[in-house]
Amino acid sequence: MHVCWLVSKDRTCQRIKLPHFEMVVIGRGPETEITDKKCSRRQGVNPTSIDLVDIGKDQEIKLKPGQVLHIVNKLYPYTVQFWNEMGACVGREAAEPKAEKRPQDESENNNVESMPGKHAKMDPQGCASCFELNDGNSSVCSCESSSSTMVGLQYWTQGLKVSMKNPAMQVYKDDKAVAIKDKYPKARYHWLVLPWQPISALSAVTQEHLELLEHLHAVGEMIIQQCPEKDTLRFRLGYHAIPSLSHLHLHVISQDFDSEWFKTKRHWNSFTTGYFFDSKDVIMMVKKKGRVTVDKNTPELLKLPLKCHVCKQQQKTIPQLKEHLKKHWPK
Ligand code: AMP
Ligand code: ZN
Repeated sequence: MHVCWLVSKDRTCQRIKLPHFEMVVIGRGPETEITDKKCSRRQGVNPTSIDLVDIGKDQEIKLKPGQVLHIVNKLYPYTVQFWNEMGACVGREAAEPKAEKRPQDESENNNVESMPGKHAKMDPQGCASCFELNDGNSSVCSCESSSSTMVGLQYWTQGLKVSMKNPAMQVYKDDKAVAIKDKYPKARYHWLVLPWQPISALSAVTQEHLELLEHLHAVGEMIIQQCPEKDTLRFRLGYHAIPSLSHLHLHVISQDFDSEWFKTKRHWNSFTTGYFFDSKDVIMMVKKKGRVTVDKNTPELLKLPLKCHVCKQQQKTIPQLKEHLKKHWPK
């Protein structure tokens, strides 16, 4: 499936991911790096436009590849780009290679990312995404249907395939699976267990993988047993309902969430809501239904208010949540 990005045309700020069927609100803020006070919800003298035609308050417009979205009175130009599974930019934008910038944080689990690099040749397919502008209650849809050659890259969604083969990342391996340290751990202990068999994601899992799923789980449990804090920390083993990176991977993560890489609401909710499928539940579901199904509202779970996973107390901000979590850490 293609991934859609909103890319600034005149600045090197991070590109913004537009996930499928998810509303993304943009405006003044760290994603756009726009600090301009003119960027406001009022669409008066500083309107947002597409190809210089004002969108208008409360209007919904489809942004096509090649068109330019200006946030705030023609000041901040953006275009949409589609990247295919091989990390190739497809469509018209592909003909215009952009300045490269490596991801600062992890290359997934975040709506904000930087440009990958390197190039390849690929065929485009259609795909769609929506976002909402926080400067005027208008929303923009983008869809790709044009064909052209493309640009590719150092493909970030394929990152696990590289890491799993890297002996420096491996903490365990056997003939069926490998366990690596998560490159951007969201807790004190965070590993990923991956099968050698090329299974793209949970969605590709069938009953014939049951034994393998059990094996991944057993490897996860075994790694926990070697953890120096195994007696005081709690662990969960599970899968993200909608993973960001390709190649099936089981998260084995301690529940302290004591990590500088844990930064966003999206991170939090992906590990503490129904977005995180316990490994045992996945195995059970595959036994019963033959596959893993994901509710269509699952992406919405990432937007839930921040709630402590231990005492359920709601927290206003990530810093407040991080401070609160300390009281649940083992003494
Ligand atoms: P998800 O696809 O959402 O289930 O999560 C992917 C996980 O992979 C995240 O926890 C990231 O921190 C981690 N990650 C991202 N890139 C790499 C990499 N190149 N090597 C190892 N772990 C990674
Ligand atoms: Zn709590």
